[in-house]
Amino acid sequence: MSLPSHFYFLQRGWINSNTIVITDGAGPVVVDTGHPSSAAGTARLIGQIVDLAEIRLIVNTHCHWDHIGGNGALRQLSGAHTAVSAVTAHILTTHDRRLMWLDYSAADYEPVAVDITWQDGDMVALGAYRFEVMATPGHVPDSIALYQPETRLLISADALHDRDCGILNTALHGDHILDEAIATVEKLQQYDVALVLPGHGDMITDPVASLHALARRLAEFKIYPEKMALHLLRRVTMTAVLLAQPISRQQLIEEALARPWPHDYAARANCPDPEQLLHQLLDDFIHRGLAREQDGRLTSLVPR
Ligand SMILES: [Zn+2]
Repeated sequence: MSLPSHFYFLQRGWINSNTIVITDGAGPVVVDTGHPSSAAGTARLIGQIVDLAEIRLIVNTHCHWDHIGGNGALRQLSGAHTAVSAVTAHILTTHDRRLMWLDYSAADYEPVAVDITWQDGDMVALGAYRFEVMATPGHVPDSIALYQPETRLLISADALHDRDCGILNTALHGDHILDEAIATVEKLQQYDVALVLPGHGDMITDPVASLHALARRLAEFKIYPEKMALHLLRRVTMTAVLLAQPISRQQLIEEALARPWPHDYAARANCPDPEQLLHQLLDDFIHRGLAREQDGRLTSLVPR
């Protein structure tokens, strides 16, 4: 199935969430707005599809900074309202840096205003389309997906990427989130889905196969938790390179070691020395052609 008319899928790189624009109905709707450092670029991309001043609604699928970073700029240009789940609203309005992973990422946070809150099971209008709001905990406790029954379209955010999902930060949220992620996959498998627009990566044209592959991956995490730790470490380390590049290996490692995540996950990944672990991760990126080290400086080779 191809994308229904009035839907636009802006696929981004590693750091920014994908953005979805729906142009039908009472003014354009934007779902997720990318990373704060790319806010101007996100607005430019959306502006190629719609008049930014006409945006009526911004939806955020969860509280992570790579999904809400363009909210402020878009609201300023349009006066759009923002809709999130009630759980996300609580995190955003109480500025919960811990649940937003801001301390994990050494990130700045520009507070996001919330106008409308949704609950699991609500039917909501995005443009002329009615979507079911689905709670999809796992990657984060506040995550929602949006399902459109007539077109069988699913906006999955970080609950489902192609054969994958957003990282599972068990050190921060608790080990039970793996079971939540598994339950979320089982919930999504109950829906008749033709096409998935995920929070990161490619559109998913074979949802059944993709969900099946994710279920297998999560079952493997249950048996081999060190694989779940490495899944997180690779992604967080690559994000750190992308945000700081070009940067010397030593400086990157020093900055990473000042954050909780290498310490939280080194032992979980069966490598008790966090510094050695970071060296191994960077060597692996270079070996696999995902990063380059030139004149003593690291640069990522994955799209930002
Ligand atoms: Zn996320």
